[in-house]
Amino acid sequence: MLKLAERVIMLKPSASIAAKKMVTELEAAGRTILDFTIGEPDLPTPPHIVEAAISAMRNGDTHYTASAGTPALREAVARKVAREKGLACKAENVVIGCGAKQLIYEAFATTVEASVEVIVPAPYWVSYPDIVGLQGGRPVIVTADAEDDFKLTPAALEAAITPATRWLVLNAPNNPTGVFYSREELTALAGVLRRYPHVWIMTDEIYENLFYEGERSPSIVEVAPDLAERSLLISGVSKAYAMTGWRVGYAVGPKPLIDAMTKLLSQSTTCPSSISQAAAVAALDGDQSCIDEATALYRKRRDRMVELLKQAPGLEVRAPSGAFYLYPCVAGLIGKTTPAGKVLKSDTDVALYLLEAANVAVVDGSAYGLSPYIRFSFATGMETIEQGCVNVVTACGALF
Ligand code: PLP
Repeated sequence: MLKLAERVIMLKPSASIAAKKMVTELEAAGRTILDFTIGEPDLPTPPHIVEAAISAMRNGDTHYTASAGTPALREAVARKVAREKGLACKAENVVIGCGAKQLIYEAFATTVEASVEVIVPAPYWVSYPDIVGLQGGRPVIVTADAEDDFKLTPAALEAAITPATRWLVLNAPNNPTGVFYSREELTALAGVLRRYPHVWIMTDEIYENLFYEGERSPSIVEVAPDLAERSLLISGVSKAYAMTGWRVGYAVGPKPLIDAMTKLLSQSTTCPSSISQAAAVAALDGDQSCIDEATALYRKRRDRMVELLKQAPGLEVRAPSGAFYLYPCVAGLIGKTTPAGKVLKSDTDVALYLLEAANVAVVDGSAYGLSPYIRFSFATGMETIEQGCVNVVTACGALF
């Protein structure tokens, strides 16, 4: 057997992808599962985007592109950032990757090594700590619990910064909680960051267009434009345009960092698919009403799910402001005994119980760094939502 590298032996698979894989296996074995695990729009990619890809193929746009991405897409991203965030941004500040995830990976691979610390507020998207660890760096987890509305406070940020800190990761709207920061809250965080010029900011805004109340999630780089010179904005087309399978994301930041990431990309993927990049240009430059339609649909699903799950004894449900996840607290279920006689000791036990008793698949909060919670994705059809929530209410009721 070929000996694997220690860093890969130590690496955990992505928890949400692992949960989805388990659902697929159970379904293949004949079980019907109501799947709330995966953060992936169930909607089709809008037709004008698909048409752009077909035209690209017909026009022979089927070859390698520059490693940083096509000029057309880099310019489209620069226009979007200028339009939506009021930031002066040029194509040379943009690099395209195979999804936001690849660019997060490349950014850390470019800048993180042994003895480097990266501050990751919890609850966090499952992959940040593992990607940092894979580079030999140390993720410094700072918990932002429900009392702080799951948001990093300026005091907690300041306490976590050391001379070894290289990055702070901000993710808003957040996966798994859906919360995002107000302008005032970002201004306060920026005040701390100004005192520590060695700390860079990775702002993951992949859910930026999905919000359900009032104003969209502001970006730290619009609130504090002076920090743009040490910020890397990450986003992409996966979530807003239902394009998860096309694998296109982008990073926007200072040219030296963008160039270094591009060098690394030139030695790994070479470039993202030329066809997907042409489709992404159509997504960013084209009619944006598909986002409004998707948001209206997600808002209905969110409201219905909150309404139904509030009836589940032991679950504490909040309506998220953005993204498409619910992150209810399950503290009220811990210590309860299932009808089969098992004591629920953790959110992992709760998730397994729901799978067994309700045929409902969720991801346990321990994967996101804050327990006891479970994550439901509402990027799924209304029928699954109705049936799944009724089953959860019954299963939770059976514990009391
Ligand atoms: N960042 C966050 C917070 C996410 O939730 C995800 C996907 O679930 C990604 C990045 C990766 O998105 P992409 O499909 O563009 O790689």
